[in-house]
Amino acid sequence: MSVTKKERSFVAHHVRDMPRSGIRDFFELVQAADDVISLGIGEPDFVTPWHIREAAIYALEQGKTSYTSNLGLLKLRKSVSKYMGREFGVEYNPENEILIAVGVSEALDIALRATINSGDKVMFHEPCYVSYHPSILMTHGVGVKVPTYEEDNFALDPQRLWDNWEPGVKVLMLNFPTNPTGGTVKLEQLLEVARFAQEKDVLVISDEIYAELTFEGKHRSIASLPGMRDRTILLHGCSKAFAMTGFRVGFACANKELTEAMMKVHQYSMLCAPILSQEAAVEALENGADAVARMKEQYQRRRDLIVRKLNASGLSCHLPNGTFYAFPSIKSTGLDSQSFSIRLFEEQRVAAVPGNAFGESGEGFIRCSYSTSYENLLQASDLIDSFVQGL
Ligand code: PMP
Repeated sequence: MSVTKKERSFVAHHVRDMPRSGIRDFFELVQAADDVISLGIGEPDFVTPWHIREAAIYALEQGKTSYTSNLGLLKLRKSVSKYMGREFGVEYNPENEILIAVGVSEALDIALRATINSGDKVMFHEPCYVSYHPSILMTHGVGVKVPTYEEDNFALDPQRLWDNWEPGVKVLMLNFPTNPTGGTVKLEQLLEVARFAQEKDVLVISDEIYAELTFEGKHRSIASLPGMRDRTILLHGCSKAFAMTGFRVGFACANKELTEAMMKVHQYSMLCAPILSQEAAVEALENGADAVARMKEQYQRRRDLIVRKLNASGLSCHLPNGTFYAFPSIKSTGLDSQSFSIRLFEEQRVAAVPGNAFGESGEGFIRCSYSTSYENLLQASDLIDSFVQGL
């Protein structure tokens, strides 16, 4: 049968069938307006601390404008190795077990591309970061969703892993603290998740990008648990804690075999992360702890405010233990998350992301980022209150 020009599409089927990000659609609407308080922001509202910016400027002055090794600058890998040992309790050899990527975004992509054969199944807990399912689909993997629930404060109940497991599962993706819910897991739960991974013989890809922004207790990495290091790819980066989203630096840490596989994908696609950003990342990891602590204190103060105000308005909201997101239920209003967000924006000029942008299990919730000033949060929560009371 002949195909006319009009009918022919050059777009790959799996890309054609992938929905656009719900966040994007909503924010195109919001960006067209200029009088909005946005609780939709997925990045720190702080500028990168000055000493870190200065390191990038100094590197530029010195004429550091070249490619780096595919794995990244050795001095940065050494800093990452020290940092992961100290903060995450797991040791990686800087020579061959750490890869510097262009953000956790690239690290996630190469981790999946290096491990997934067409048709392999990848479990992930939901609601989750908008990229996870599409990233799985782009590697021709099959996503297996594991819901998390408000009554568990959106921690992952390990029993749900056993309940949702299917033959063919090769990878389990984890994200604690979790975007969009702020959920974290307790050590007992993490040990159970590790037992599941070992019994079912799956690889864990653990995105711990919000690790430092854990409020009560210290973040614990699954890679640090007995028997887990060699079946985990641990992803971390500078974007969130160090307020460095624009620098685009992420790390993938794993055993030598997995690192070598990721290095091949990275080498043939990205080559290396930008050298100036890598220089800045060294400064962040070596000397950034005080700045991180100061920003975290602000996030915690804002979290306490927004969660108190949302609950007072009748939108039940658990106290998120990490990230800079609150995830209140809007079920009491009778509206779905899209209608709630659109009406809140149109009637009160407050933008919050509809929960269904993070998967079906996010329906009935909205994501309110408290990565904005205390004053903005006070004003936004009063406007949300007016909106809810007026319904
Ligand atoms: N993982 C999660 C859970 C995130 O929330 C984000 C950014 N919003 C990323 C990864 C991507 O971060 P990066 O800037 O390091 O690419």
